[in-house]
Amino acid sequence: MKYAIVSDIHGNLEAFRAVLEKCGQLGVNQYICLGDTVGYGADPSACLQLLRSLNPLAVVKGNHDEFASNDDEVMEGFNPHARAAVLWTKSQLSADEREYLARLPLRMSPRGTKLTVVHATLDSPDSWGYIFDSHHAADNFAYQYTLLCFCGHSHVPLAFCKKPVLMHSGKPIEEITDWAMHGETDFTRETYAEIFIQNGFKYLVNVGSVGQPRNRDPRASFAVYDDEKMVITRYTIPYDIATAQAKIRAAGLPERLATRLEVGG
Ligand code: ZN
Repeated sequence: MKYAIVSDIHGNLEAFRAVLEKCGQLGVNQYICLGDTVGYGADPSACLQLLRSLNPLAVVKGNHDEFASNDDEVMEGFNPHARAAVLWTKSQLSADEREYLARLPLRMSPRGTKLTVVHATLDSPDSWGYIFDSHHAADNFAYQYTLLCFCGHSHVPLAFCKKPVLMHSGKPIEEITDWAMHGETDFTRETYAEIFIQNGFKYLVNVGSVGQPRNRDPRASFAVYDDEKMVITRYTIPYDIATAQAKIRAAGLPERLATRLEVGG
C-alpha cells in the first residue's frame, strides 16, 4: 500500500493539484492529511472539496482549521497576517465546511496501519507546539506507540529516529539529516529524499508543507509511505506559484502571504 501524506495545504489549490498529479503518477492508494487545509491561501473551499473527494484514510485538525471553524476571534498566538487570513477564510467557507473542520480529531491511528498522525505534537496536540529539535522529538516519542508518527505545523520538513533501547550507544534520538534536503538550489525541478525504515526503531516525520513551505525551498513538499518496501519518500514539486500569488492579491489578503510563497519562508 502506498500512502500519500500531505500537510499544510493552506488553501493553495495550485500546489495541491501539482501534488495530486504526482501522487497519480506514483500509484498512491490512500491519502492522509495532517491538517491546515485552509488559511493563508485564496482557495480554502476548493482545497477542502478536493481533499474530501479523495476519501482520505485520515484527516486531523490543524490550528487554522480550528480557528476557521470556531467562534474564537481573539486567536491567541496568531500574528496579524494569520489572523486576517483566518477571518477571510471563515467568510469563504460554507456551514457544512466549517462543521467538517470542527469535527476533525486532533490525532489518529488509522486501523490496520503502524502509524499515528497529528498536526502539531502528540504530547499536547491542542496547544499547537512545534517540533524543531531532538528535545521536542523526545517529548513526542514518549506518547508515540506506533512505528511511525507523521506531523506538520512548522512547515519545515524534519525527521527523527529513536533507536531500540538495547542499541543506545550515542544519542538515543537522532535527526535524519538527509530528509531536510539542505543545499538544494534548483527549484525548477523535482527532487526526493528517502528514509529506509528499520524494525525496532521509531520514526517521527514532518512531511513539510504543500501550500506554504518555510524552509527556503518554495516547492510543494509531501511524503509517500510504502508499507511493503518500508520506505518513506519526501517529494518536492515545482508548481504554478504566480497563479497562487495572483489569487491571494485579488482576494485582498495581506501582500506578505503572496511574496513568501516564492521564497519559501
Ligand atoms: Zn500550517
